[in-house]
Amino acid sequence: MSTKQFAIIGMGRFGSSVARTLYEMDYEVMGIDEDEERINENIQYVTHAVAADSTDETALKEIGIRNFDVVVVAIGHDIQASILTTLILKEMGVKKIVAKAQNERHGQVLYKVGADRVVFPERDMGMRLAHNLISANVLDFIELAEEYSVIESVASAKMVGKTLRQLDVRARYGVNVIAIKSGESFNISPAPDDLIQANDVLVVIGHNKDLKEFEEKA
Ligand code: ATP
Repeated sequence: MSTKQFAIIGMGRFGSSVARTLYEMDYEVMGIDEDEERINENIQYVTHAVAADSTDETALKEIGIRNFDVVVVAIGHDIQASILTTLILKEMGVKKIVAKAQNERHGQVLYKVGADRVVFPERDMGMRLAHNLISANVLDFIELAEEYSVIESVASAKMVGKTLRQLDVRARYGVNVIAIKSGESFNISPAPDDLIQANDVLVVIGHNKDLKEFEEKA
């Protein structure tokens, strides 16, 4: 099996971070930016780097963009260029397009023109920070639907040494513990009598309102 090949269009802070991380994990990564300076800054952190305008279909054809497994559109400020690029990639038959959105409207349009996945890094990071500020135990927060989320939370002092049955978070807060990370081991079907140990991380699903209660009180 050959390794996955990625192309990242727009080597700003977000795009270059995606590209470098993939490259460090030994994937083949092509970085594309219309700004030569951005290309020069990132050349040693990607497999190939090309200066091109992604709204130019011919340029994308020459790069052979169709052959990449995933293309990430990491253009932020120039919303028009981000949308046009996504549309062109879709029309060219790119297998998987991931696009970065500045806001909800931008995201909706990106889905309409063919993005397979839209990410909102600023919004998501802001949400994570807010949850972490409410409770320092909260490590991560993922929105599943408008009102439902999953959080990863370090077991509080009150929880350590108790079983899930004793904690009874379902009855008390209306949330469900779907997994427990304990050091290297990951228990994906926790049983009522499983004991919570110090430093365990609980993966909890629920309505945002109930998760808030859980974060504040549990
Ligand atoms: P970040 O937060 O990741 O820095 P940003 O929101 O500031 O991103 P922009 O500066 O708008 O993002 O764009 C990121 C990069 O995309 C820039 O380096 C810019 O040169 C590049 N870019 C913008 N339009 C195009 C285009 N049409 N073709 C290729 N690259 C482009």
